[in-house]
Amino acid sequence: MPRPIQAKIHRDSLSHNLDRARRNAPDARLWAVVKANAYGHGIERVFDALRAADGFALLDLNEAQRVRDLGWRGPVLLLEGAFELRDLELCSRLGLWHVVHCEEQIDMLAAHKTQVPHRVFLKMNSGMNRLGFRPGPFRAAWSRLAALPQVEEISLMTHFSDADADRAGADGIAHQVQTFVKATHDLPGERSLCNSAATLRHARRPLTDAEPLSADWVRPGIAVYGSAPDHPEHTSADWGLQPAMTLSSRIIGVQQLDAGDTVGYGSTFTAPFPMRVGVVACGYADGYPRHAPGRLGIGAPVLVNGVRTRLVGRVSMDMLTVDLGPVDEAISAQGGEPVGWGTEVVLWGRSASGAVLPVDDVALAAGTISYELLCAVAARVPFVE
Ligand SMILES: *Cc1c(COP(=O)(O)O)cnc(C)c1O
Repeated sequence: MPRPIQAKIHRDSLSHNLDRARRNAPDARLWAVVKANAYGHGIERVFDALRAADGFALLDLNEAQRVRDLGWRGPVLLLEGAFELRDLELCSRLGLWHVVHCEEQIDMLAAHKTQVPHRVFLKMNSGMNRLGFRPGPFRAAWSRLAALPQVEEISLMTHFSDADADRAGADGIAHQVQTFVKATHDLPGERSLCNSAATLRHARRPLTDAEPLSADWVRPGIAVYGSAPDHPEHTSADWGLQPAMTLSSRIIGVQQLDAGDTVGYGSTFTAPFPMRVGVVACGYADGYPRHAPGRLGIGAPVLVNGVRTRLVGRVSMDMLTVDLGPVDEAISAQGGEPVGWGTEVVLWGRSASGAVLPVDDVALAAGTISYELLCAVAARVPFVE
């Protein structure tokens, strides 16, 4: 029998979350962002549930090919554009739209021989200082692109650095919105600004007098997978999002500890009183964060038989250990059988009982974000639908 760990993908939650994002931006078209193999969920596994999207945004050309292989004839956007001239041939062949964020990509387009003019998204660096043209060169880049026979239509986009948080008394996006509008107000073309955080928090505020910030296209990623982009200020429940992935396993061993006993490598947790701990078939080689126990060896939340408890001791390669105390208490209050070998453990997601442990809570305890945990589920973990 394989180890009991598995990742389950909830298609109904994906559809629900997509719809949730859309309701915040009812007049915009929606890119479902499926980069990084759909944030670790698997493009093929999420595709059907996300068909209601207007397009799929990603950045790996192999992933674009996979979306076409699934039969998607609609828009596909390469968020980082072409990395070399050859990529543009694939764009022509597969009808991919692509971001243009630097002069080198315009040079490549100018050198690209094609019968099919391309649809491009010209990216402005409005303050994040990652990809894109600064506002001055942006206009020159637009003119250069507009003169190319290889280009059919130019859309305008930018990306927010702080849509998930207020900064220094101001909301995180005002400065970038102002920069974008100032440099683009007299340019034609569709616009796209909002990631998940901006779609949920800001999409209805004005971009211009005539248009909300959601503009022509929104680009939600993490929200589609059911996680709050601005956790812990808001939770997934606050936003009405449902987990799209459940990582679960089972208890494969139980230890009865005396006061003073320690748990795991480095003996980082010492039992303050007699207690029962369960050993779970999940470790860092499955993608579970090794730093989850935090300080004092008391760590990340976990659901055992649907009851919330916590990790104790270090996460090892194939196992982690959980305090069964709160679970035993809940069970004895209900007069049920004690939990033990074989009991369901949910590392994040939804338990058979319906109880939810948001991946955001685990990420917070591990000092990271849900994105990283979802993308890091290891290849040895079997996925089920
Ligand atoms: C990843 C990405 C998104 C989606 O971001 P989320 O925070 O997951 O919603 C949107 N736009 C661009 C350009 C991206 O790279």
